[in-house]
Order: sequence, then C-alpha cells, then structure tokens
Amino acid sequence: MLTNNWKSELYRLLLWLGAALVVGWLLNLIPWALAFAATAFAARAIYRLHQLQQWLTHRSAIEPPEASGLWGEVMDHLYRMQQKDRRERVRLRALISYLRESFTSLPYGAVMIDAENNIEWSNHAAQTLLGLRFPEDTSQQILNLVRAPEFIAYFESEEYSKPLEMSSPYRSGMYLQIHITFFGKRSRLLFFRDITQTFKLEQMRKDFVANVSHELRTPLTVINGYLETFADSFSSGKVGDTNPRWARALDQMLIQSRRMQTLINDLLLLSRLETLPQANQHDALAVRPLLEIIREEALASCGGSREITIESDDSLALIGQREELHSAFANIIFNATRYTEAGGKIALRWYADGEHAYLQVQDNGIGIDSEHIPRLTERFYRVDKSRSMDTGGTGLGLAIVKHVLIRHQARLSITSKAGEGSCFSCVFPLARTAREPLVAQR
Ligand code: ADP
Repeated sequence: MLTNNWKSELYRLLLWLGAALVVGWLLNLIPWALAFAATAFAARAIYRLHQLQQWLTHRSAIEPPEASGLWGEVMDHLYRMQQKDRRERVRLRALISYLRESFTSLPYGAVMIDAENNIEWSNHAAQTLLGLRFPEDTSQQILNLVRAPEFIAYFESEEYSKPLEMSSPYRSGMYLQIHITFFGKRSRLLFFRDITQTFKLEQMRKDFVANVSHELRTPLTVINGYLETFADSFSSGKVGDTNPRWARALDQMLIQSRRMQTLINDLLLLSRLETLPQANQHDALAVRPLLEIIREEALASCGGSREITIESDDSLALIGQREELHSAFANIIFNATRYTEAGGKIALRWYADGEHAYLQVQDNGIGIDSEHIPRLTERFYRVDKSRSMDTGGTGLGLAIVKHVLIRHQARLSITSKAGEGSCFSCVFPLARTAREPLVAQR
C-alpha cells in the first residue's frame, strides 16, 4: 500500500518553488527562477520514470533503482509484486511438472487436446499404446495421427457417456478402451488403457457359448425328430404298449426338447448379433407388413385369445436389416401376448415425431415392478421365474432385442406398472427412417 508519501512529494515541490521565489526575489528574476524550479522538478520526474521503465523492461530480476519518497515507494511496491508473481510462477511450474510426472508414470495413456483438436501434451503410455510421441507430435491434429474410422466417429460425435472399445491402430492384437472428457474451453482429455486381456476373455466366453450351442444343435435335432416320430406312433396307436404314463412322459420330453431347441437357437442368434459385423447394405422396410406377419404368428401362438391392433405411419420406412428387426419386434410382441391374460389388448404403433421414430408395443397385461425394469435386458433375467418358464420364454428375448437395436443405433425404452400393463418402445434415430413410396415386402 502506498502511504502518505505523495504529500511529502507535494511539500518537496512547494519547497522548490519557495526556494526559487526567494532566489528570484534576491536576483529580481522571480518568473525565471520559478520556471527553472518547475522545469527541474519535471526533469527529475521524467528521469525517475525513465529509470522505472528501464528497470521494468531490462532489469526486473534485480532490485529496483534507489529512489526516495513517492518514487522509491512506487518502485518498492512494484518490486514486491514482481517477487510475489515470480514465486507464484515457480510454484505453478513445479505443480505442472509434478502433475505431468505423475501422468507420465501412469500405465494409462493420457493425451491433452486443445479446442482446435491439436495435441498439447501426451504421456509415455500414449506412445506405447497409440504411437503418439511427445514432444514430437505436439501441435499435430489428433485425427491425422489416429486414423481408425471408429475413433474418428467417436471423437467427432462428442457423445462420450460410454467409452469406446477398439483394436489399437498402432499394435495389432491389442485392444484399447478409450474415454474422452471435455475440460476448460472445449479442450479434451483422452484417456485410454489396454484391455486386450479382458477382451480376449470375453471373446473366449462368446466363442464358448457359440460353440457349445452349435455342438448341441445336431444331437438335439436328432432327439427331437425321434421323439416326434414316437409321439406320432403313440397317438396313432401304432405302438403296442399304449400305457398313458408313457404318453405323458413322451409329451413332457417333447416339450422340453423343443424348449432346449428354442434356447439353443436364441443363444446362437445372440452370439451372431454380438460377433458378426453389421451388414453395410440395409433395406428401407415397410413396417406395417412386418407387423402384420408377426401379429398373425402371435395370434396363432395364443389361439387368437388377445386383441392386437396396428397403427402405422405407412409413408415412413425403417432402414435396417430385415431378419434382425423381425426377430426383435417378434420378441417384444410375443412377450406382450405371453404376459397378458386372455382377452387382453395389445397395440402396435409405428410413428415418428420431430426427433425419433418409434416402434411401440403396448399391452394391458400383468406389468412389471419398476425395480426390475433396468435389468430386463440382461440374459436370463426374469421377473417371475416360474411364470416365464410356463410361458415358454428362454429369458434371452429382450437381450436379443437390445443387441439388434444397438446394431441399428436405436435403444429400448420400457415403461410399466405392475397390474396395469407395459409399453416397450424401440426408439430409432430419424437417420434410420425414410419417407418414400414403399414396395410391399411380404
Ligand atoms: P422371457 O423369455 O422370459 O420372456 P425376455 O428377455 O423376453 O425373457 O423377458 C425378460 C422378462 O421380462 C420376462 O421374464 C418377464 O418377466 C418380463 N417381461 C417381458 N415383457 C413383458 C411384458 N410385456 N409384460 C410383463 N413382463 C414382461
């Protein structure tokens, strides 16, 4: 804080003028004496300013020039501020190198990217995992250095709620999980780790399920075929021993072997959905004919005991893979018939608003308690195990739906109330739809 030194500077000026007045009076040259005193005072001020400017521009690291009074105080004050500033800068530099050092030693790759997508800094793991070198790659565009299409799509989407998993474009056989977060003024922090081990285990799990299902399919088809032949022979009386106990046992064996076949088929479908790359070519499908086919199948499965209505925006096509979508919609619609009492009402709707397109299946059946809803798409998750078994479900239906929808950039939304009914909506992005004259696709 500056003190009252400005007053002493004022007194000094007055003193100079007073002295000049006395000398001027003695010499009879008062105006000249006063002018001389004022000029000398101004020259002194200019000299101090010059000293200050020289010190600030060239010699700010050393102590300021000696000066008394107000000038001295101004220079001391500036000097103290500079010293404080310098200490703060040293502290911050130390903190930055400390943080960099800790980031550098991380086993995870870390890259800082500015608002123009240029690399600002990267750590050592970024080099081993993605081949980004620091400081050589500083100021390079990240998208010029990491050119994997899935990375570019993820980076540009700016939707980072879920991490990206992809094979490393730098090292073959290595898999990475990548997180991106925004910080500061649209800078981004890229964080990634090696998940090769987890990926391989997951791959082994998928392969195992697919292989077991595949291996079980043939023996099951044989067993089922013989059981059907036996059952036919029994019912037509071609078998000598027609003991009703055998008939009941045969019936049960047939039901169970058919269930196993359905289960195996669902498992195979699920592993295909998980592993096969998405088809490039997608059709623009008319949704009403697809819904009509599934409605016929669903009504046949429940002996026509439910009422199923269809409301469809027929000028709106759905762009996707026909078999996959058929399977997903059929799972939801069959569920609606399974979990609705005889006489229940099921409404199928296909429409779009300004943001999305919706395939909605609403029923007034048994409904679901809200606590179960987040877990319904897990494999083998059932609200009421015994009831689901009775209805012939495999527990994989909604997991299949979820995977099909992911492959179409869509999601499943479920609202339900126990005892009142449920509404399952497949929510598609509008990019997955087309308004065009449609050819019937029955
Ligand atoms: P499942 O083969 O057992 O039907 P899903 O994966 O298709 O398996 O469904 C999971 C569970 O979600 C079902 O067991 C059932 O409890 C519940 N569920 C699915 N759809 C409905 C519905 N429309 N109404 C009530 N519950 C349903």
